[in-house]
Amino acid sequence: MEQIDKNFPFKKFRKMQYHLTRAQSSLLLQLRSGHIPLNAHLYRLKCADTDTCQACSTRRGASPAKEMVTHFLFDCTEYQYECHDLDKLLGCHNRDLEHIMSKQKYIRALLKYIGRTKRLKRSFGTITQQLDNDDA
Ligand SMILES: [Zn+2]
Repeated sequence: MEQIDKNFPFKKFRKMQYHLTRAQSSLLLQLRSGHIPLNAHLYRLKCADTDTCQACSTRRGASPAKEMVTHFLFDCTEYQYECHDLDKLLGCHNRDLEHIMSKQKYIRALLKYIGRTKRLKRSFGTITQQLDNDDA
């Protein structure tokens, strides 16, 4: 189990949910809990044949990585390009979801990143709507 669930849900995040669509907010909550349709979780539920990340493990010379939340958000080499803006905003060593979910602009960057990867589109649809509107 990943160590990202220490004091969930956060007060600050609850406030921010009012600015999010239903899909966006359920996606973020699932990210926090780790119960999200990525292979590491699906495999545990016997809903996937493998727990490895299919996006990057097919690359030549790549060693298979478990597709956990942290891998998907921060480590997957296949999404380096999509991750660029998020890294720029957060600093590339910031992997603290609690910190990310404490600020509207970080949440937006995170959602945009996830939208760009299209990895969770089947489960959550287009999650980037309304992200470019109000700048809080
Ligand atoms: Zn990967």
